[in-house]
Amino acid sequence: CFVGLFFLCLVAGELLRSSMASAGGGLPHDLFSLGIASRICTDRNSTARASTDFGHMFEATPEAVLLPATPADIADLIRFSASSPAPFPVAALGKGHSGRGQTLAPGGVVVDMRALGRRCGGAARVNVSAAGAQPYIDAGGEQLWADVLRAALEHGLAPRVCTDYLHLTVGGTLSNAGIGGQAFRHGPQITNVQELDVITGTGEMVTCSRANNSELFFAVLGGLGQFGVITRARIWLEPAPKRVRWVRLAYSSVATFTKDQELLISDRASESGFDYVEGQVVFKRTLFEGPKSTQFFSSADVTKLAGLASQYGLSTVYFIEGGMYYNEDATTLVDQKMEALLRQLSFEPGFVFAKDVAYVQFLDRVCEEERVLRSAGVWDVPHPWLNLFIPRSRILDFDAGVFKGIFRDANPAGLILMYPMNKDRWDDRMTTVTPNDDVFYNVALLWSALSVNDVEQLHRDNKAVIAFCEKTGIEYKQYLPRHASQDGWLQHFGVKWSKIIELKAKYDPQTILSPGQRMFPSFA
Ligand code: FAD
Repeated sequence: CFVGLFFLCLVAGELLRSSMASAGGGLPHDLFSLGIASRICTDRNSTARASTDFGHMFEATPEAVLLPATPADIADLIRFSASSPAPFPVAALGKGHSGRGQTLAPGGVVVDMRALGRRCGGAARVNVSAAGAQPYIDAGGEQLWADVLRAALEHGLAPRVCTDYLHLTVGGTLSNAGIGGQAFRHGPQITNVQELDVITGTGEMVTCSRANNSELFFAVLGGLGQFGVITRARIWLEPAPKRVRWVRLAYSSVATFTKDQELLISDRASESGFDYVEGQVVFKRTLFEGPKSTQFFSSADVTKLAGLASQYGLSTVYFIEGGMYYNEDATTLVDQKMEALLRQLSFEPGFVFAKDVAYVQFLDRVCEEERVLRSAGVWDVPHPWLNLFIPRSRILDFDAGVFKGIFRDANPAGLILMYPMNKDRWDDRMTTVTPNDDVFYNVALLWSALSVNDVEQLHRDNKAVIAFCEKTGIEYKQYLPRHASQDGWLQHFGVKWSKIIELKAKYDPQTILSPGQRMFPSFA
């Protein structure tokens, strides 16, 4: 009944908004008499820059872009919209690395969070507290993880979990989950946060944690920007190692690959094993027709791998990607540890590829790939990505139906990640949803579309993947989700959906925040 009433109010609000928009068009004039007016840009260049994202799959132009100098500027904007008779949408924009229009605010205002770091009057927006049993860093929501890492390393510390790519913002990844090869041990980034400063959809500035205003804290973490704008996060740190033994182990059998991955993320292997565990799926055709060498593999390595695929008539080869952290004074120890670990694994004999790199170089490795892709002109192309969490119990079915089925004769450009995580490291009080199995896989289909035909084909392929999961009853969850309808969101959140509606009604009753997710009746 409460839920029904909330939706009735939303529909009424929707009608009011459309009538006001057609009467006046644009934003209410009073907005430009606020103190923040000089920081609201309505010029074409500014609005065009905020009208798409990394995915290049969706476009919508906002009326304006706010370049906040302080968090209070954001609060002023949101408070104005929320109390206006014609509320307009507001979306926080981190680095715009979303794939499906999540940062768009058609007809409203995009808040360029990165301006906070540039305009805060020089006040540091990253502060490390190294003393005490649990060191942490206070970082502005607009800060890049690369900058968080840099500041922490000055104290010999590092975040416990990093995403593969560090040029993402703190607020952007905490609104999703923030996963990477360390998440099997520490959970996603959202479970490694102690405290947040949040501006809710009513413009209230709230500090929240597990102990204070915990409802908002749990809502915002993984909350897809629906309940508030994160302006500061207190993130736990740990001592940083200096170097990483970085290995890739090749597998011809998916069953052996997943068995070894699950061993590596189990408590049994946790201390004596890798500190970082991910994995990749590579099509045979990529080995033959793709780049002859990569950042990691030499051309001799690629030839050797292609030989493996040919020898066994494989359509796909799998790699475990592992990182073992160490300091220079422990080289012998890390060698022994690596040897002992590799003895327990069943990769193809002789197919160990190893590097030894500085910790920062390891964590920032995607930046180097970005440089290569940019120089080849294939970074700013459409990215019809599909990220799924697949329960452990169905991962082999998924592999058979998707990699050896749907993509049997295809060779899309891009990267496929496949690695497991432990569900008990996630906190179900947070908004993010995961499958029910105790272990689930992140399967990331990170496509790059190099032509219009590619976009259409990959879109069809992604739909076929979802249809396959639904037909065969695989209880997948989308990561970095966007659903076209509320039915999609209902299915996504399952039993959490009624709580989501309750939280939305409480923290963003005018539904002005993050309309690009299309979770609530939209302004578009
Ligand atoms: P944006 O895309 O700008 O924003 C994302 C969402 O959060 C939007 O809905 C936005 O409105 C909202 N938002 C942004 N800032 C705030 C804020 N301060 N407060 C509240 N809401 C906010 N993800 C992983 O988990 N692991 C990875 O390893 C990983 N690797 C990636 C590699 C690349 C090359 C790319 C492009 C993306 C990768 N991602 C990864 C996905 C990434 O986490 C998401 O794209 C996420 O959106 C963060 O990007 P961003 O900081 O640019 O946020």
